[in-house]
Amino acid sequence: MSFFQNTLDLIEKAADIMKLDGDVQTMISHPNRIIQVSIPVKMDNGQTRIFEGFRVQHSNLRGPYKGGIRYHQDVNMEEVKALATLMTFKCAVVDIPLGGGKGGIIVNPKELSNAELERMTRAYTAQIAPFIGPDIDIPAPDVNTDGQIMTWIADEYSRIKQRPALGVVTGKPLFFGGSLGRNRATAQGGVFVLKEATKDLGKKPEDTRVVIQGFGNAGAHAAEILESEGYRVVAVSDSKGGIYCHEGIHVVRAIKCKEETGSVHECTVVGKKFDYHVEEGAVCERITNEQLLELECDILILSALENQVTGKNAHQVKAKLILELANGPLDAEADTILAERGVTVIPDILANAGGVTVSYFEWVQNQMNYYWPEDEVHERLQKIMVQSWEHVKAASDKYSTTLRMGAFITAFERLAEVMKARSIV
Ligand code: GLU
Repeated sequence: MSFFQNTLDLIEKAADIMKLDGDVQTMISHPNRIIQVSIPVKMDNGQTRIFEGFRVQHSNLRGPYKGGIRYHQDVNMEEVKALATLMTFKCAVVDIPLGGGKGGIIVNPKELSNAELERMTRAYTAQIAPFIGPDIDIPAPDVNTDGQIMTWIADEYSRIKQRPALGVVTGKPLFFGGSLGRNRATAQGGVFVLKEATKDLGKKPEDTRVVIQGFGNAGAHAAEILESEGYRVVAVSDSKGGIYCHEGIHVVRAIKCKEETGSVHECTVVGKKFDYHVEEGAVCERITNEQLLELECDILILSALENQVTGKNAHQVKAKLILELANGPLDAEADTILAERGVTVIPDILANAGGVTVSYFEWVQNQMNYYWPEDEVHERLQKIMVQSWEHVKAASDKYSTTLRMGAFITAFERLAEVMKARSIV
């Protein structure tokens, strides 16, 4: 089943549980606008290559379209439609006045030079410039995109429009209109929710074993935050594979090692101690991504890509709690299996909403041209995440359903309210 179909099924299921007006469900199951562009790029060797790009504007019912742009060789339209839809629900779950959108380019950015990457980003921006803007559609980073890429987009957009327009994208560097706390916001938001969810379990952080799939912006920051709070991060991985250290990983060193070697998979050798990389005296081993998902642990954090835990491996997952920092990491079958097995899943549209929440703060600061200190960002994020957790938990209790359904229901109530008030349905 495609990721988009899976998302539509979740919407249908939530609508059924809450006995929602069928028109509301129909409306929200169709993205408002789908943009597909060809992006010609002059490569360093003088040849021109055409890349394919997308921007899906799913819903602007509650505010301008909002959502990241991903650069990945496997990007496709169905995936971008699913991700855009999830953004609409995500912004509604945390109750920020934004809609949902998503973009992507089919490319492996690691194969491009920096100059090629810049030319591609600027050409894509030029193609979508008529459709984006600080009060229309505001892109942000996603898989394989970062502050540098956002800077090129903002610069190109401002050049085309002949006016400064910092608020056209979020996730910018601090010196170019970024917000303090944005880089780690996805992870920080997830940790706030995680702590609420585990508050009553009475387990100390040092006794809590955490496994993290994905060591990009979300995963690495989550590892760092959890380590600083005393949790025991025992395994991490990236697209090449991972490492498992029974006694715990020295996260700060692992991040440094990944920066130097390109992959966390290189940060140990079988059976040998790499004192530079891991805890003093620890014995660590290399593992595959498949093995990582099946490790004995308390918390599994999924921060890579969609469809990582499926009907095939869900039975082997041993974690008692899953935090979805990635979008859509469980497929529908896995979701059912894990729910039946009593595994708590904190769903993506709540768990990773810290990213877009601080994007919202960044955009607000750009509009005001006045910038907040980090503790203000941190406190505001905490308040929103804790409140959203309470709303989602209350909805899942009220309807005796999963947290995922609780999150969809919370969002749906807010979306339906606006549709009704605006006489759209
Ligand atoms: N790409 C992130 C997400 O999936 C952030 C989106 C944003 O900040 O607009 O939530």
